[in-house]
Amino acid sequence: MSKSEVSQLILQGISGSPGICIGKAYIVDREGVDVIKRYSIAESLLPEEINRFKDAVEKAKQEYSNIIDSLDEDLGAELNILESHMLLFKDKMLYEKCIQTIIDNKINAEWSLKNVTRQIKLMFRGVEDLYLKARANDIEQVSEKIMSYLVGVHDEKISDINKRVILVAHDISPADTSQIQLERIMGFVTDRGGKDSHTSIIAKSLKIPTVLGLGTATINIKNDDLLIVDGSAGIIVINPEEDVLFDYEEKRWRFDRNREVLARDSHLPAVTKDGVLFDLSSNIELVEEVVAAKDSGATGIGLFRTEFLYLDLKKFPTEEELFLKYKEVAELMNPLPVTVRTLDINGDKVNPHLYGIEEENPALGLRAIRYCLHNPEIFVTQLKAILRAAAFGNLNLLIPMISSVHELLNVKKIINKVVVDLEKEGKPFKKDISLGIMIEIPSAVMMAEELAEHVDFFSIGTNDLIQYTLAIDRRNRQVAHLFQPLNLAVLKMIKITIDAATKKGIKVIMCGEMAGDPINLPLLMEMGIKDFSMNSASIPIIKQLIRNIDSKQLKGLFKQALKLNNCNAITDIIKTKFKDIPPFKEEDQI
Ligand code: PEP
Ligand code: MG
Repeated sequence: MSKSEVSQLILQGISGSPGICIGKAYIVDREGVDVIKRYSIAESLLPEEINRFKDAVEKAKQEYSNIIDSLDEDLGAELNILESHMLLFKDKMLYEKCIQTIIDNKINAEWSLKNVTRQIKLMFRGVEDLYLKARANDIEQVSEKIMSYLVGVHDEKISDINKRVILVAHDISPADTSQIQLERIMGFVTDRGGKDSHTSIIAKSLKIPTVLGLGTATINIKNDDLLIVDGSAGIIVINPEEDVLFDYEEKRWRFDRNREVLARDSHLPAVTKDGVLFDLSSNIELVEEVVAAKDSGATGIGLFRTEFLYLDLKKFPTEEELFLKYKEVAELMNPLPVTVRTLDINGDKVNPHLYGIEEENPALGLRAIRYCLHNPEIFVTQLKAILRAAAFGNLNLLIPMISSVHELLNVKKIINKVVVDLEKEGKPFKKDISLGIMIEIPSAVMMAEELAEHVDFFSIGTNDLIQYTLAIDRRNRQVAHLFQPLNLAVLKMIKITIDAATKKGIKVIMCGEMAGDPINLPLLMEMGIKDFSMNSASIPIIKQLIRNIDSKQLKGLFKQALKLNNCNAITDIIKTKFKDIPPFKEEDQI
């Protein structure tokens, strides 16, 4: 097709990670449920449609059989799973029902497969039996494999992509995102995803311009289309016209240059013009991010999200494996502090190999500390590894998703038992590690004073605090516009937490994404937070802002916000008040 036949299309999504990139599209999946279309099949063509379905089943089976042949005999458990999946390809409930649905409704095979799979899932929904639940999950995986052959796209490992492209996908899981090869992937574009989802958090730490929640990106974009991804504005341009391309090339240049300039000053202290010192540390997910954290001028790791070490594995890591990873981070950062958060698995961070049971509301399900208390052996293994690694550096221990004092006391009992066990084992470890909890559930805010009696510090997790306070699923693009850090209900929750910590004499740090957005900082500084932890990529810009502010300018901001009762108005006030300070200065806007 010649250039003039291709028309430009602009789509608005959600900003996942700032920055601009321009490059060729590379589509990794189209198989999401939203993309499957229903269409009728003429009676005379039904045999052909059924053959198309059977052919997809055969190809999917063949792929499984090839994998089984290539697997080592030692991988017994995995072999068993694959062999049991082989039987499901011809399962009555799935195979025969699909063919019958094509005939009865005179519809295409994809639609039939999608509906039959959904019915099977619904059938198993209320069933308690774990075996049957796991079987429903197996059927779903087999069905996805058949679907990939029907729609003509097969699973592709993101880590295998070998050209420099912009990745376009229906959805990218946090686990996929962490497999990215930085020198290959310029940007991300997805149909799904919402504000402060874990996919966006990782994209930010990798500094990959990202737009999420576009809805129809995989339908509108073809492989090799030229794309502009404006991660800062949450916009993509498909097959841009020449003048648009020219503008964006200049914008990209300005953004990259600005990032370089900021990086140059990032080792200076985060001190206001009148000498008030703030502490900025980094959030990391993987050991490899320690270098970026140090480069950004972080004074420690304020949040080490340890679940990413579990997401891509077929079995749980051992105590020794975890110990070595944590020790590495402790030693690399020493004497700077590292706050290790215990496993926050599930919600949107699911490992299908380790926890294959579907929950209707995963964000409200067996996530984080709930999962750990339900599986004490997994929790104990991790706690032992953390306490042992603490002997090699300056580690703090942080527990996610605490919702009551009772739950916290149960956690402390387990920690005490781990201490006793480690003493018996005689390995070096740190007994009196500083203990903190995430404040990210409204019930924890309401009980903050009582909780403070039992811990050394609070860490405010605004990503979940906003999600649970405002009832906004952080992964859902439909409600992303309602995910508002400056909503007064959220600000009041934060204030209650700060006041409780101050009254009880414990430290409070904020580690949610809210801390990394300059627009929120003046208010948070005035509300009394001195310690922030954020994506390493955000540290230079936040530092620049703090260094240009005089703390006297902040006075009265929170009171003013309370009177306004409207987050857009609060945003305007901050932008106007600090209009002469970067990054709010007009010439700093990109
Ligand atoms: C949070 O909820 O704000 C947080 C920092 O933790 P996560 O994003 O991992 O849920
Ligand atoms: Mg959280």
